[in-house]
Amino acid sequence: MKYAIGIDLGGTGVKGGLVDENGKIIKSLSTKTSKVNKEVIRAIADLINDLKTDLPIEGVGVGSPGTIDYKEGKVLTIGGNVEGWIGMNIKKELEAIHPNLKFKIDNDANCAGLCEMWLGAGKGYDSALAITLGTGLGGFIFYKDHIIRGARYRASELGHTILYPNGRLCACGQRGCTERYVGGTGLEETYFEFSGQRKSGFEIMESFKSDPYAKMTVEKFVDDLATATVSFKNFFDPEVFIVGGGVINSSHIWWDDYLRAYQEKINSFDQMPIVKAKFLNNAGIIGAASLILNEYE
Ligand SMILES: [Zn+2]
Repeated sequence: MKYAIGIDLGGTGVKGGLVDENGKIIKSLSTKTSKVNKEVIRAIADLINDLKTDLPIEGVGVGSPGTIDYKEGKVLTIGGNVEGWIGMNIKKELEAIHPNLKFKIDNDANCAGLCEMWLGAGKGYDSALAITLGTGLGGFIFYKDHIIRGARYRASELGHTILYPNGRLCACGQRGCTERYVGGTGLEETYFEFSGQRKSGFEIMESFKSDPYAKMTVEKFVDDLATATVSFKNFFDPEVFIVGGGVINSSHIWWDDYLRAYQEKINSFDQMPIVKAKFLNNAGIIGAASLILNEYE
């Protein structure tokens, strides 16, 4: 049996797991982190120490927000909220602390997508497109056992396709990016535009029935997500389209309306299955470990 450690760096902490070659998590741990780059590296390195057992480990896969130079293991553009994370060579920093371990670093949405291809909603499909709806919108494109990373590692940045020309300013510098509307932060902003008040994404979903502004917000979210899905489908026409991330926890409220809106908008009658991701909380850990265990290139 082969084993690897998968690390999932999120907005408020680091999660990690020791994963076997069947994708089973043997041991998992998480830790809160500061938002300073070197301290985050230290927290990841410590978590690796704590996850190690007597079992032999093939290596460590790390999923990080942002655009990642997969070969170098380096962060190219901002994603997440760690200070000084742009330019950070995660691979080199971790190799310096753990010289006997092999490291592979990838974008967090790619890791979540890999987990779905390996064991989840994408299993058995040759091509797939996946989106992760968290605070933003992460994208993943997969074709014949390969992640499509692009010439500059910026492919599958589906959250930064433009949904509204000259719309809301995005942290990436563009205006009207899809993730400024479809994603937790976008949802909160839409609610604020309608009501003049602040609610968290979770509160908006929870008050869907009692608060008319929440209802309007969710309806707009559904319509925007369907529109974006039409563009994604027309661009790549994957065998399957997978929707994951924290916003899926409230999908009982909006999923059927989303599928209906998509059907109304799309020009083609050939059916692309749109499915929910199977792994939500652990997708990042398992997918990061699969960078090592499955040798995807
Ligand atoms: Zn953007």
